[in-house]
Amino acid sequence: MAKKGVDAIRRRTYFHPMERPQELKTRARKIIMRLRKAYPNAACSLEHKNPLQLLIATILSAQCTDARVNKVAPALFARFRTAKDFAEAPVAEIETLVRSTGFYRNKSRSIKMSCRAICDKFGGKVPDTMEELLSLHGVARKTANVVLGNAFGKNEGVVVDTHVFRIANRMGLTNEKKNRDKVERHLMDFVPRKGWTEFSHLLIHHGRAVCKAPTPRCEGCPVEALCPRAGVRVSGVAARS
Ligand code: SF4
Repeated sequence: MAKKGVDAIRRRTYFHPMERPQELKTRARKIIMRLRKAYPNAACSLEHKNPLQLLIATILSAQCTDARVNKVAPALFARFRTAKDFAEAPVAEIETLVRSTGFYRNKSRSIKMSCRAICDKFGGKVPDTMEELLSLHGVARKTANVVLGNAFGKNEGVVVDTHVFRIANRMGLTNEKKNRDKVERHLMDFVPRKGWTEFSHLLIHHGRAVCKAPTPRCEGCPVEALCPRAGVRVSGVAARS
């Protein structure tokens, strides 16, 4: 990159960590408005028709793209329609249908055990509280937030996937580099609750389209003027992380 571009990146690092909480809140709201304008149709990209399908698709999406999950989902959901179907299925049959999503043995076991618990404890219906969802095998906060936000319209937290984790750090919205639950708490502090689900969709779309790993497309980024680009390396020069 030309020297001018590198200098511009250095200058913009003042946002973080000197920024006061109210300034951070204001900046976050501006970021949301700009991302909303850039991605007016941002939504959950896992195809589903009901909470059970979304729960299973989200379990399958770990370490896998949503596009890949959407490819295996039609055959899987045609074969198994209810939690009881999954709970009673031979695990090898589930494995065969989800193999291409990776880690298919663990995922198949989680699906079967979760559906067994849904039948035994929740009358065959996916529960709609954080506590109950977290009691299911293989379900952590990320999966629970996806289900609550998209299948039940409940904003109980912010989905922190690999895109949200990376971009929240680059934008200086958090300085937590390891613990996703802590990143979620930071984001929940200054993003209005009614926008938690939408915010994660916006960041995920932005991560796929522009703020990619490892190389973001900063020039022309809709939030370029609001971003310190923390940790972004350009021609061997890293902005402050
Ligand atoms: S693309 Fe660049 S400017 Fe835009 S959010 Fe990512 S790091 Fe910041």
